Amino acid sequence: MNNALQRLLRRETLSVDDWESLIASKDQGLDRELSQIASSLRDSVYGRRVFLRGLIEFSSFCRNDCRYCGLRVSNRNAERYRLSARDILDTCINGYELGFRSFVLQSGEDPYYTDERMTGIIRAVKEACPDAALTISIGERSFESYRAMREAGADRYLLRHETADENHYRILHPEPLSLDNRLQCLRNLKKLGYQTGAGMMVGSPGSSFHTLAEDMVLISSLKPEMVGIGPFIPHHDTPFRDEKKGSVSLTLRMLSLVRILDPHVLLPSTTALGTADDNGQIRGLDAGANVIMPNLTPLSVRSKYLLYDNKKITGDESAENLETLKKDLLRHGYEPSLTRGDCIK
Ligand code: SAH
Ligand code: SF4
Repeated sequence: MNNALQRLLRRETLSVDDWESLIASKDQGLDRELSQIASSLRDSVYGRRVFLRGLIEFSSFCRNDCRYCGLRVSNRNAERYRLSARDILDTCINGYELGFRSFVLQSGEDPYYTDERMTGIIRAVKEACPDAALTISIGERSFESYRAMREAGADRYLLRHETADENHYRILHPEPLSLDNRLQCLRNLKKLGYQTGAGMMVGSPGSSFHTLAEDMVLISSLKPEMVGIGPFIPHHDTPFRDEKKGSVSLTLRMLSLVRILDPHVLLPSTTALGTADDNGQIRGLDAGANVIMPNLTPLSVRSKYLLYDNKKITGDESAENLETLKKDLLRHGYEPSLTRGDCIK
């Protein structure tokens, strides 16, 4: 067995070089070995359950200019929409009636949603769906803003760190965005008691085995409850339009490594993985993931939330497709679960 892997399994802290040796390894059998170890660790904590979370993409406005993302403010061709508080609530209630007890509210960084508006939305959703968990994913905000949303009832927050490497961060994000602030936000979220999600794209321009190794070191020290990982996929109206998409097999390897690092982590098999490979989401579960986020966004606006090209927008929210997804999971030996799906720690 790979030396770094042996030490990882003994719960030793790995260096950047150790991680890099695992991430870059050309050993033919390694991926199979990693996914077997990762799956059995996941099973020992969560069993075969796969948590389904209803995703609501409620605004495609964004003030930021991340070079990889189709919603970046410079993209004049992006179609922008905002859902009203009423529409967001109705969408959650619709999901609740389908059985969902876990929702994710995601958007670009849209200043329209002030703390007052956000806390109003969060309170209304928690009042209508009291036994559901609520995850927010709306980017970088102040400590006070995160605190207000937490006090209003938000349980979890997704804020991928995107890359732990300063130079790489600068390739992906123009000023005034900074890795320092991103990490400060993540620490603030943890301090406020959110189940906190970090994460990164695999194969984004400027990334390397080394930057992915730095991501693993960051994840080791931050200890997020959730880690979102998907392949980078180019969007035709961004500066990265001609860049290569990220590797599916490397994404799967990263999922396994994160699961082995922390058997308790909540690990989504992402839409980007399902977009890059038709069977990507099942392959993600087989690599150690245990969360899937079916899209509940109203169909009238869903195609406008285009982070990257060819993003899947099938009607996964309809009762019928939810049934198809459930059957698919069962067929592959997983148990679909519509419960809150909290991190077991
Ligand atoms: N605005 C919020 C949430 C929406 S973006 C934020 O940025 O945190 C959600 C995630 O989509 C980002 O964290 C990023 O990792 C991912 N994403 C954006 N563009 C992408 C692309 N071209 N390929 C793959 N993932 C992308
Ligand atoms: Fe905005 Fe998030 Fe896209 Fe960056 S990744 S441009 S913050 S929606």
